[in-house]
Amino acid sequence: MSAQQTIHVDGKWRKAASGATRDILDPADATVLAVVSEGGAEDADAAIAAARTAFDHGPWPRTPVAERAGLLRRTAELLVRNREKIALLESRDSGKTLEEGRVDVDCVADAFRYFADLVMNESGGRVVDAGSDTVHSVVVHEPVGVCALITPWNYPLLQASWKIAPALAAGNTFVIKPSEITPLSTVDLIDLLAEAGLPPGVANLVTGEGATVGARMSAHPDVDLVSFTGGLVSGTKVMEAAAPGVKKVALELGGKNPNVVFADACATDEGFDTAVDQALNAAFIHSGQVCSAGSRLIVEESVRERFVAELARRAARVRLGRGTEDGVECGPLVSERQLARTEEYVASALAEGAVLRCGGRRPEASDVRPAAGYFYEPTVLDQCHREMRVVREEVFGPVLTVETFRTEDEAVALANDTEYGLAGGVWSADPGRARRVAGRLRHGTVWINDFHPYLPQAEWGGFGKSGIGRELGPAGLAEYRESKHIYQNLEPRPVRWFAG
Ligand code: NAD
Repeated sequence: MSAQQTIHVDGKWRKAASGATRDILDPADATVLAVVSEGGAEDADAAIAAARTAFDHGPWPRTPVAERAGLLRRTAELLVRNREKIALLESRDSGKTLEEGRVDVDCVADAFRYFADLVMNESGGRVVDAGSDTVHSVVVHEPVGVCALITPWNYPLLQASWKIAPALAAGNTFVIKPSEITPLSTVDLIDLLAEAGLPPGVANLVTGEGATVGARMSAHPDVDLVSFTGGLVSGTKVMEAAAPGVKKVALELGGKNPNVVFADACATDEGFDTAVDQALNAAFIHSGQVCSAGSRLIVEESVRERFVAELARRAARVRLGRGTEDGVECGPLVSERQLARTEEYVASALAEGAVLRCGGRRPEASDVRPAAGYFYEPTVLDQCHREMRVVREEVFGPVLTVETFRTEDEAVALANDTEYGLAGGVWSADPGRARRVAGRLRHGTVWINDFHPYLPQAEWGGFGKSGIGRELGPAGLAEYRESKHIYQNLEPRPVRWFAG
């Protein structure tokens, strides 16, 4: 397989300056899916220089808002037109099912449309009453400048769109570095932006590792803003690297997300079935490789046994396989490393006293096709408690821990007992209780009687170590804009502060 030129600088595709390449593996069978350019610091420098020149001298920051919004809408149309192709690529690259890949493409198109509408509605300045007829005072928005965008492997294109769409809407230029293991759909998106009419130099891309390309982008003096989505450890490094330059930093990090189930939610057969079904979905969709995965089930003691037994019964029946095969419900984990990490967490939980209710192993070779993929069975660990690593740390695999409570206060205390604070769910048939508990949870998104939906018009992000700032919603556009106050004295006169 010949290497693709996957570094995009000033409107042209090129190889890495060093000539290095990287094999991109299909996680379903560990074969080589594509070979990409492996960029380094000098490629990051070239891409940042192009973005800098396009920002300082190019037309994009001064392009009328309606034209910028038009480009975002055309990009959304191109995404819809290429839906099947991109969904397939995303599925092959990240292991998710083809249907999940399709939903991702739809959500990416929604993000482009949303920011097109938002920037049109929020493009005008805000007139400020200066308390004088002879002063005109207005606050206007301007782009921040050159943005370094760094994205993870679990939702490669979706996470990219939450950054690219608002960055472009606001008039910035950018360099994006997708995860080194799932860069393919982001490469395609850069082509779609060009097809939609984006001028050269505005959108640049460097494929390569975090420790080299990502670190360089975070520290580079010509970068004005770093927006990072990924793990806590890398996010901390990004913030440290950006600190000496006092860059704006936005971090979307991990989560250890509680799913709190009150017994009253399970009082009817229908309620019970729904809560179990959604607990499965919360924990195991995309094999649990979701920042907002409901990986901590916190269930009322009185329904624990019935709930966990049914959950484990259904989890054991989840159909694993290649994400593109009909009927497959969960694909493989994204890499050998992620599989080993999951195994290690389950082993440590069992050593610490957790009780295995289902899963806890790679499937038998005869039970899954292709056998060489990085598959792991959905796993339910009962009798867990906060001292266990598996309860405190993000596994990012198909592993659900079970804790129990007796009172509402206890449920809230357990749900907030995490250094993260990304998302959580509350299941109750009592709307007052559900709202009360939702109000007390220290998490950026709380679902009541649901799990996982998000809306582009609602902010997404975390409390605590889940990050800094918000994506989506008006705040997701504000991240990419500077506010400037223009105070105009219409009748200037001496102030005579100094007598001389
Ligand atoms: P990761 O931190 O390993 O990598 C994320 C990105 O950062 C990659 O592009 C990587 O190359 C880059 N990177 C790594 N080290 C870097 C460094 N020192 N400097 C600059 N860049 C660096 O994370 P991952 O394993 O790709 O993704 C999983 C993590 O992402 C999980 O913790 C998950 O919760 C989080 N995530 C969060 C959200 C959210 O919205 N909060 C969404 C998706 C994923």
